[in-house]
Amino acid sequence: MRCFFLVCICILALAGSVFSQLDQLAGLGGLQELDFSALSQQDENPLGRIALGLHPDDWKHAEGEHFIYHYVRSFVASRAAVEAEFNFRVVTRELEKTDLVTERKSHLYIFDRPEDWHEFQKAGILEGWTGGIHSASSLFLLRDPSYKFSNNTLGHEIAHLVLYRLYGAHIPCWLNEGFAEYVSRTSLASYQRARGYIMRPYSQSFAPGTMIPLQPLMQLTRPPTQLVETFYNESERLVRFLISSDKARFLTLLDDLARGDSFENAFPRIYAGVFANRNDFEEKFGEYASRN
Ligand SMILES: [Zn+2]
Repeated sequence: MRCFFLVCICILALAGSVFSQLDQLAGLGGLQELDFSALSQQDENPLGRIALGLHPDDWKHAEGEHFIYHYVRSFVASRAAVEAEFNFRVVTRELEKTDLVTERKSHLYIFDRPEDWHEFQKAGILEGWTGGIHSASSLFLLRDPSYKFSNNTLGHEIAHLVLYRLYGAHIPCWLNEGFAEYVSRTSLASYQRARGYIMRPYSQSFAPGTMIPLQPLMQLTRPPTQLVETFYNESERLVRFLISSDKARFLTLLDDLARGDSFENAFPRIYAGVFANRNDFEEKFGEYASRN
């Protein structure tokens, strides 16, 4: 099972909310603009060359702790950089890999004009509905400054990036997308809560019979065009269920599936004593998924 080569095509985030306070933080930190030739590392990703080849005189460049930023307008990039570092920390903490050593920084390309993004999508032969893309450790993001509020798109893509670095490119699609949605929604809510807002991570509940059956769900190598929202929401709910059932076992499952083991093989080994059998697991997940 492969999640559409190294490129993970993602939907525009399903859960929208507020990141407006980041404007204030971004103003404090600010990014230091560097000449392209002064960057500590160049991006080998061909999509990066395509991006920078569009309006080459407009791009500016800067470096942060974990990312190298390519952007057009500083205030858009400064805000995105604060979000990127925040999300990076939440994702690595969730995976219990806070000691992740990043010998190479990831490149983050921030488009802030929709027309440029559409041009990039055409040049890169990408699907028209994507708002963010992770490709082999580089991130490409549309961040329209006219939108007052951000959503979890950047966190979702950073989750893919960290998963790719830690576990490689062979994570099953449901697990890759489910974890990216789960952790990015958690990250958004925790950011808001830290600033005094009451916000719980969004997780959709499913009435009985409305989900994609688990066996075909787990076989999918990319989100099904006709059931995109169901796929993301159900995968998120499944990951949430697995993590809430037993975090350590979830991390073992992630490790084993990323190495190529099948869920059918790994499940009885990892979940012995937690679920009586596969039917018991599916019944308990169905019950969990139906809760509001
Ligand atoms: Zn995704």
